[in-house]
Amino acid sequence: MPVRGGLVTPVRLHIGIDDTDSTKGGCTTYIAALLVERFSQRKLRFVDYPDIIRLNPNIPYKTRGNAAVALRLQIPASEYEAVREITITTLEENSQMGELATDPAAVFLQGEPSSLISELSRRALTGIVSIPQATKVIREAGGSAVAYGSGLGLVGAVAAVGQMLKGDHTYELVAYRVRRNLGKPRLVDRDSVIRMDRLTSPDTFNNYDPEHKRVLVAPHGPDPVLLGLRGETPHAVLNAFRMLKIREPIERYVIFRTNHGTDAHFQSAGSVEQSLGPNRPVWLSGVVSEKPLRIAGGHVFVKLRSSRRTIECAAFEPTGKFKETVANLIPGDEVTVFGGVRSQEGSQRSRITVNLEKLRVDRLGEDLMAKNPQCPNCGKRMKSAGRAQGFRCLRCKYSFAGASKQIMRRPRMIRPGIYVPDRKAHRHLTKPLSRYGLEKRMWDGKPPEGVWHQP
Ligand SMILES: [Zn+2]
Repeated sequence: MPVRGGLVTPVRLHIGIDDTDSTKGGCTTYIAALLVERFSQRKLRFVDYPDIIRLNPNIPYKTRGNAAVALRLQIPASEYEAVREITITTLEENSQMGELATDPAAVFLQGEPSSLISELSRRALTGIVSIPQATKVIREAGGSAVAYGSGLGLVGAVAAVGQMLKGDHTYELVAYRVRRNLGKPRLVDRDSVIRMDRLTSPDTFNNYDPEHKRVLVAPHGPDPVLLGLRGETPHAVLNAFRMLKIREPIERYVIFRTNHGTDAHFQSAGSVEQSLGPNRPVWLSGVVSEKPLRIAGGHVFVKLRSSRRTIECAAFEPTGKFKETVANLIPGDEVTVFGGVRSQEGSQRSRITVNLEKLRVDRLGEDLMAKNPQCPNCGKRMKSAGRAQGFRCLRCKYSFAGASKQIMRRPRMIRPGIYVPDRKAHRHLTKPLSRYGLEKRMWDGKPPEGVWHQP
């Protein structure tokens, strides 16, 4: 093709979108799915699957998943204005504008994201980024943006652009409902989900929670998502999708590349001392210093001594069996905990609580107890005859001055290893047990192929 006036010079364009939904409906991934269709109609070339980027899960004002999306294209420079227009129109038409805490934004960046953007992206996974910080980085990188409401969406939008998922990543096929069904129960056949899970695991994950007999692929809110299937490859999620019996029309589906199930927030966490600020993901190793405490409501607390400070860890009731594992720890156990630091507004500054997302039992201590010796005559446990006076049998009156207590080892109810909450209480970013050993070191960089979206 002849190059005239630079009009067909290809440019790399990254588009980040965030915060278009509210508790009443909408979904940022749905806007991405509409854009996939609209850009495909214009025969534009995607250089990556659309990305769903989950950010710091501990941010207090984000009660839902805290997900942003990024679209990455290679387009003729002459298409730039049209792509920008389509994005903004689609955003305006489909965001829950005017709803509380819905502050949509889109960021456009030509060329590859700079190290400044990558760094901001890393901070958005592990801490809190302010709107002025995000605006500054977008300007310095030569990007442009549109934002509505408070502008908070800018943070996630630029963070999504900068998170290129070059290391470990997973895929999610998201299918969407037709408008007339929004708010109605989702008609996804439960048995077909269980069967699909059995046949495709571990290439897919978090489909079904056998502990609670709960289907996990379908959400429950008024949003347009019918279901989301997570897995290791685009082929795996598409194959799983085709196994399901779905008794309602599907408007469209798209396969996304994501940081779901990768522990990305823990990999980016800084050193322990730096990371102990409120709302940050942390991991730290230490020794259990007190017997765990179970409080009303079923929550379990345990204290950990780590680098000369004591940190309280909490495992909440919905984590299921996980909290029982925590309850079975004893002083002396060596563990590594993963979780989010709870903000300690107004309380004693020295007290730090980590809400547990994952526990690694590194070394079990010995659960020792002292028992009185058995009577050599009749076998009954003897009683102490007084300080330094040996033991006496109450049944046969046998007395044994030289006897001493026996040290017994109680069997432990847990083993060294990794423990995560029951699946229904998993966070999007938490790496499920089934993914250990399946981590990808890099992305092959291939553009999407096959039937990765419809229509
Ligand atoms: Zn006896």
